[in-house]
Amino acid sequence: MAFRFEVMKADPSGARLGRLTTPHGTIETPAFMPVGTAGTVKAMTQEALEELHVGLLLANTYHLYLRPGHELIRRVGGLHRFMSWPGGILTDSGGYQVFSLADLRKTTDEGVRFRSHLDGTEHLLTPENAIEIQRALGSDIGMVLDECIEYPATRAHAASAAWRTAEWAKRSKSAIEAGPPSEATSEQVFFAIVQGGTFKDLRRQNAADLRALDFPGYAIGGLAVGEPHELSCEIAGETAACLPPERPRYVMGVGKPEQLLDYVRCGVDMMDCVLPTRNARNGYLYTSEGPLHIKNAEFAAEMRPIDERCRCMVCRRYSRAYLCHLFRANEILGAILNTHHNLYFFLDIMRAIREAIAFGNLSRFSSELQARLEAGHR
Ligand SMILES: [Zn+2]
Repeated sequence: MAFRFEVMKADPSGARLGRLTTPHGTIETPAFMPVGTAGTVKAMTQEALEELHVGLLLANTYHLYLRPGHELIRRVGGLHRFMSWPGGILTDSGGYQVFSLADLRKTTDEGVRFRSHLDGTEHLLTPENAIEIQRALGSDIGMVLDECIEYPATRAHAASAAWRTAEWAKRSKSAIEAGPPSEATSEQVFFAIVQGGTFKDLRRQNAADLRALDFPGYAIGGLAVGEPHELSCEIAGETAACLPPERPRYVMGVGKPEQLLDYVRCGVDMMDCVLPTRNARNGYLYTSEGPLHIKNAEFAAEMRPIDERCRCMVCRRYSRAYLCHLFRANEILGAILNTHHNLYFFLDIMRAIREAIAFGNLSRFSSELQARLEAGHR
């Protein structure tokens, strides 16, 4: 199967119902992608992800490049085979982790020089080798290298990062076209990433520059880095409007359950976020009536499930009391069950959003969801 994206239905709100086909299956959009940083969605088996109907997950190039190394993964037949994952895989370019995790980074037009957070060894990430590394991983969708900036950033800094991001996208495009793709990666596609900070005109310019390069999909980067949510949505909406309507749009690193719909209404088709998995391991669980901390004493003898409305395997079988005990005793099963529930919760919101778009009642669904999450917010 070759990469393909179709918009099945466009809602007046801006939301789109779509279908994204990769060499490893078709997923319905808008879609939420669980984060499988080091080739594993922490505390989840691949079987469990399949049970949750996860069609596309995200893996981090930076982590896999440093450990076990992309050449090893190439040698054993690519990431799908290595981790025994039949579904789709999206890899990031490694840029975001270099900017957030690595030491001593220095960005020049050539690329980003950094020291590994694992062993201090020095590395250079360039637009060209970001493509090469992701080719070795063999993901279905890769990302080109972009320059990430912090929030708040000055206009001058945001402008220079956006300019460099466009230059790097050009070089990436050349690298993609130059390298004869191997058999395993011949269907792999790369998305470009729009930068420009919180400056709408920079975003518009950057989107236009990248659009001219004709990528099969576009990501909106540099959001959810500390800016207010309203501003994040404004920028996402403004940027999405500048991107080709027939191509998928992916907002990286968002969001909270009550925010997913906001991004969908900006015309976004794909999202990923570490919140459901990371928070699960910290005992922070999402429910239809707002989040809760499972370690709290109030749950120690409560034999109700996490969320009575949730139909996940955990809520059908286990009590808050048991999960509270597992968390306090630092039992591995606690992380496993908490993660399963939180992921189900996020995926179920997206499923409900897709259903509401299909039936044309997104605005009613939206006010009901908002009211419920706010009513239960403690
Ligand atoms: Zn549940």
